[in-house]
Order: sequence, then structure tokens, then C-alpha cells
Amino acid sequence: MKTLASYVLGRWHAPEGDTRTVVDPSTEEPLAELGTGGIDFGAVLAHARDNGGPALRALGFPARGELLAALAGAIHEHREELIDLSLVCAGTTRGDAKFDLDGATGTLAAYAHFAKTIESEGFLVDGEGIQLGRTARFWGQHILVPRRGAAVHVNAFNFPAWNMAEKMACALLAGVPVVEKPGTPTAMLAWRLAQVIVTSGLLPEGAFQFLCGGAGDLVDRLGPQDVLAFTGSSGTGALLRGNPSVLRHNCHVNVEADSINAAVLAPDVERDSETYALFLANVELDLRQKTGQKCTAVRRVLVPKEQVEAVGADLALSLGRIVVGDPRDKATTMGPLASADALAGVRAGIRALSAVGEILCGGPEPVRERGYFVAPTLVLAREPEADVIHEREVFGPVATLVPYDGEATEAARLVNRGGGGLVASVYSNDRSWTEEVVLAISPWHGRVWIGSDKVAEQAMAPGMVLPASQHGGPGRAGGGRELGGLRGLEPYLQRTALQGFQGLLTTAFGSRS
Ligand code: NAP
Repeated sequence: MKTLASYVLGRWHAPEGDTRTVVDPSTEEPLAELGTGGIDFGAVLAHARDNGGPALRALGFPARGELLAALAGAIHEHREELIDLSLVCAGTTRGDAKFDLDGATGTLAAYAHFAKTIESEGFLVDGEGIQLGRTARFWGQHILVPRRGAAVHVNAFNFPAWNMAEKMACALLAGVPVVEKPGTPTAMLAWRLAQVIVTSGLLPEGAFQFLCGGAGDLVDRLGPQDVLAFTGSSGTGALLRGNPSVLRHNCHVNVEADSINAAVLAPDVERDSETYALFLANVELDLRQKTGQKCTAVRRVLVPKEQVEAVGADLALSLGRIVVGDPRDKATTMGPLASADALAGVRAGIRALSAVGEILCGGPEPVRERGYFVAPTLVLAREPEADVIHEREVFGPVATLVPYDGEATEAARLVNRGGGGLVASVYSNDRSWTEEVVLAISPWHGRVWIGSDKVAEQAMAPGMVLPASQHGGPGRAGGGRELGGLRGLEPYLQRTALQGFQGLLTTAFGSRS
């Protein structure tokens, strides 16, 4: 069995004392042990702040952008090996492994590209200058400057590569050193990725540290210039946000949490239309891809009452074609869940949903004797108002069909019962219906995806997070904001309003264009 070390203070640190074992989720065979015992978390933060930060900032934005491009290239060179490892340690199919890994390198490369639009070395110009005094002599200009602390990234288990890379891309480009902590069940992939990053020698010492195991007292040691960016469940997010040190120092916190994402089919969508085909394909993809372990996967599918029987039959048919099994078997189209805890949670969730509905396909029963497998499951809500449908995230290949009356206001009311979401998708070719729903659900969502005949042939699926579009949502979804082009750098930058002589501010801090 392998031992997974952490990379801290410029060296690999093997676990001391208690360790946890990670297993192959298809076979339950132990793969490796990991732990962060013996690590001085205060020293880790100091190393980042004192060494990594100054070295990164000395490079300036354009050179840091080039670093990201080189990192993407270094990871890409190991693509095949990392895909093979993902099949074993994360239970992903090859397609799901590529989604995670190519998402990681793609996001790093995208930020390298965004960096080319930055005109200054040490700060970002934020908006136009503004006249503050009686004449233009007394002037104002907002700028964004790198924070002088460390960025602690606590990541979820479901995207070990992408989650680490998308956060790193923004922090490193901003000039802030990172301390990465992956979710434990799939940490082996993140660990190998960390090895690739360290071995590449591309990053200055202290700019990248990696913790393989628990976070110990790391969060208790955060200070006023540090950033905590978390991805995971609402419960853990609330715990970390409420940490006394984080509160005392007003440490900048970004939380990406869970979300009861909804898809809405409008009454105008005909069963033989391109929009309907897109709707079916996207719902099927969200359940199958990553075995439904995507924060953006659809959990509630709203369908007009008159169409619910036909839609249920169509979806059950396409979900029934999914081949559940060990991803090393080429016939497999959906692998296991990532851990025993994940499986127990999904089974309990299916039972809770079936108490207020009827299972149209799948169910909570074991699919195989060993491994964390579950069948793709569709539940038809018999009690569409039941809280469990709108409040419980079942983090697996599970969705609930929710019948509604076809009215835009009713669709929006039900969608918004999720309490704040990462993404909602709307399928319609009726412009006024679409406008009404989009405006009513936008305050409750970070992203609204609109499917229609016009985009059917080229739209990326709503579950896909793109570096150019904002990711994150209000309320239940954590209230965080990530990505969205250069907006994604904002958690790592301090916005400062400069006020003074126009001649100084426009030449030293204003836009060059
Ligand atoms: P989780 O149990 O909340 O864990 C998330 C991370 O927090 C893991 O690295 C975990 O470490 C760490 N953690 C747990 N307790 C901690 C503590 N007291 N102090 C410091 N760190 C702590 O979530 P998960 O099961 O890994 O991920 C699944 C959840 O993430 C789902 O609810 C999903 O919706 C959400 N998610 C959201 C997004 C998004 O962008 N909004 C993306 C992906 C996933 P250990 O693994 O070592 O316990």
C-alpha cells in the first residue's frame, strides 16, 4: 500500500501518527494511507506568506500568466497516467476522468489567456477614474492589489483535479500563494497531480503547498490578509465560515456549497423538437456523468403536469441504458460513488425521496456485492411541495420529476424553493415565458442556462462550469463567486479607492488604453 505525503515547507512530509486509508471504490481494495500528523500548520502559512507570496508578486501578472500556461502543459504531459489513476482511485469512467483533468488544464490555460489582457504588472485597474473635487484636479481611481497572505483551498472529493486547478489558477495569477487540501476519498489523484506540479519546478518555493489529509488547526491560524476558499457541503462551509479566527480577522472567505439545481421544461416544448431532445440528453448526462457527483447536476426536473407521464417514460428509458460497473470494463458508462459514506448517503436520500414519490427507475438497492455502486434513479414526486425534494441534496445519480401547472410564476416559485442554487436550466422557445422565468429565478441563482432550438446544436450542458462564466450561487449554494474571467481573481485582491491629484492617479494607476 502506498503512503501519500504532503508537500509543505519545501519538502515531502510523510504522515506521522494516525492515518486514513483510501480505497478503490469499485473493489473496496485499500490503495493508500494518508494523514497530516506532524505538520506545523502555522509554519505552512508563514512559508506561503513570507516566501511564496513575495516571489509570486515579483513576477507580475503577465509572467504569472505564462506560469499557468506552462503548468497546464506539464499536467497535460501526464494526462494518460492521470486518467488511468482516476479510474482506480476515484471510480470514474475514462470520459469522467477527462472531464476532471481536461477541465483542470483547460482552466489553467484559460487564465493564462485572460492574463494577456492585463496591462499592468502589480495591480488591476478597476473601472474609470472619477472626478471627486470641484474640478477634475481632485480625482478618484479604484485599483485591485494582491492580498499579502496565503490562499487556503479546501476542496471537495468529486473533482480532485479541476477543483484544485480552478482555484489555483485564480490565486496564482492574482499573486497569492496556495495551500491545497483535497477531499480525502479521491486524494490520491490530487496527490499525484501535486507531485507533477512540484516536480515541474515551475512555481517559486512557497507558492504551492499540498496537504494530504486533515486540515488540523490550519483554519484557526488564518490572519487578516489570508483567503479561505472552500468547496464542499453546506454544513462544513458553515463550520469554516464561523471559525473564530476567520471571524476575528475578517479573513476573506469564499464558499462553494451544495445546491438543489433545477431544470424546467416549458409547456411549449414539443416532444419531437430539438429543445426536447436537448432536455432529455442533459438530464441523462447530469445523472450519469461523475455518477451524479457534480455540484451542478440537476436534482429537480420540473415538467408540466400533462407531459409528466411521457417525460418520465422517456427519461426512464434513457437512464435504463446506462451501464453501471467497474470503469476498467470498457462497457461501463457509469462508475461507482466515491466512498462508502457517499453510498450510504445516496441510499438514504433515495429512500427519503421515495417516501413522497414513486421510483420510476433505479432505487436504493445494492447493485453489486462489492464496491459503492448505485443505479441511476428517477423519482416521480407525488407530493411536489414536500420539503425533502427541495431541500435535500442527494449527491449521486438521482433526480426527482416535479409536476407543475405550466405557468411561469409557478415554475419560478418551485425552482426558488431550493433556497439559492448554482445553476438552473430552462427549456423553452417561448420568449415571454422564458423572460418571466429567467427574471424571477435570477436573484436566487449564480447561473441561469437557457436551452432552445436556436442553441440546441452547440450549447454546452448546464452542468459544465466554464472559466469565462461565473460559478457559485447565493444562499444554500454558499454565497460564493468563482471564475468568470478576471472576476475570478477578486477574492485574492483587495479593492482600494485611491483619492488624490488627477495627474498622479491617471498616469500611475489609470487605464493605459
Ligand atoms: P465535505 O464533506 O463538506 O468536505 C469538503 C472538504 O472539507 C473536504 O476537503 C473535507 O476534508 C474538508 N473538511 C471537512 N470538515 C472539515 C473541517 N472541520 N475543517 C477543515 N476542512 C474540513 O464535502 P464533500 O463530501 O467532500 O463534497 C461533496 C459536497 O461538495 C456536495 O455537497 C457538493 O454539492 C459540494 N460541492 C460543491 C461544489 C461547488 O462548486 N459549489 C463543487 C463540488 C462539490 P476530508 O475529505 O478530509 O473530510
